[in-house]
Amino acid sequence: MHKRIYLSSPTMHGEEMQFIQEAFDTNWIAPLGANVDGFEKEMASFLGIADAAALSSGTAALHLAMKLCRIAKDDLVFCSDFTFAATVNPVSYESGRQVFIDSERDTWNMDPVALEKAFFIYPNAKAVVVANLYGTPAKLDELSSICAKHGVPLIEDAAESLGATYKGKQTGTFGRYAALSYNGNKIITTSGGGMFLSNDTESVKKVRFLATQARDPAPWYQHSELGYNYRMSNVVAGIGRGQLLHLNEHIALKKRIYETYQKAFSDLPVMMNPHLAESSPNYWLSCLLLDKGCPVKPSQVIEALSKENIESRPIWKPMHLQPIFAENDFVFLGDKDVGGDIFERGLCLPSDIKNTDEDLSRVIEIVRSCFT
Ligand SMILES: *Cc1c(COP(=O)(O)O)cnc(C)c1O
Repeated sequence: MHKRIYLSSPTMHGEEMQFIQEAFDTNWIAPLGANVDGFEKEMASFLGIADAAALSSGTAALHLAMKLCRIAKDDLVFCSDFTFAATVNPVSYESGRQVFIDSERDTWNMDPVALEKAFFIYPNAKAVVVANLYGTPAKLDELSSICAKHGVPLIEDAAESLGATYKGKQTGTFGRYAALSYNGNKIITTSGGGMFLSNDTESVKKVRFLATQARDPAPWYQHSELGYNYRMSNVVAGIGRGQLLHLNEHIALKKRIYETYQKAFSDLPVMMNPHLAESSPNYWLSCLLLDKGCPVKPSQVIEALSKENIESRPIWKPMHLQPIFAENDFVFLGDKDVGGDIFERGLCLPSDIKNTDEDLSRVIEIVRSCFT
């Protein structure tokens, strides 16, 4: 059997261990400490944002963003439809209700025209959560100005898009709040973790407060608000500091994988996940979209790769097609369900930066063999 080829697995470099060693040497394993402070500062400075709070997950960051938006029972929140469930679940944690907004074809992210339509149908919506899927920036200017026009905060789910830029500006810096994830398969990882971002330093302070059990500044344990245990540990933050040193290198390697596939499949009835000319994705996952009417189905390609010990994956199943959200509204244009269509025709190819040229050639050969 050939060695396993992964979709996207962690890649460590060595500096991670040095930061962890420092935490051990100073006996500063927990709670917070130099690595948490350093990781927050270094990430905020890399992104060009005022402040960042290191948390236990990206989902926790999105949850606290919902809290800061004061989402309450039955409040409507417009959410990307075509995404991972973690983008939208935090709305339910606060008993709000998601209205899913369809994607456009240029970036596969939230369609600004469908968002406008949603505001027409539901003028009372309280917030908008937009994911930059697979590392590709959404149409962030258009989405931002629609949110501004309606006086509603934009929350960016940048869990998959760390390091991607839109018109030269980092994703995660467009919304009032944004979330990053350092989960195991993301472009950089801390094994598990996330970050809350904002240019409003008071909001970030509030997030640190809520994430550490919301202790009032009193001499005894006193609480006036509901708190959470959502902070990142000082050991985990050490991994993040080491990984951040290699983020740009990871992006360059991911881009090379994407371009290799793009070139290798240029004569097949397929396209790669698209992006705007004015944006630079981080190319987290390379995705393949089979042409309409193509006799090959994504499941056949996934199966063929799997037989050769190669990991690939279906495209995210849109939220409006999820049993748990069967009752939620879905706003789309005309009679087209763009997310559903991409789901039916798409798949994610192995995008692990440790894959060698030889590994990539194997993947390419097997994918091409499905079309002969
Ligand atoms: C990974 C991911 C999340 C959640 O991040 P965790 O750190 O795993 O909680 C949220 N949204 C998207 C789009 C993701 O891919």
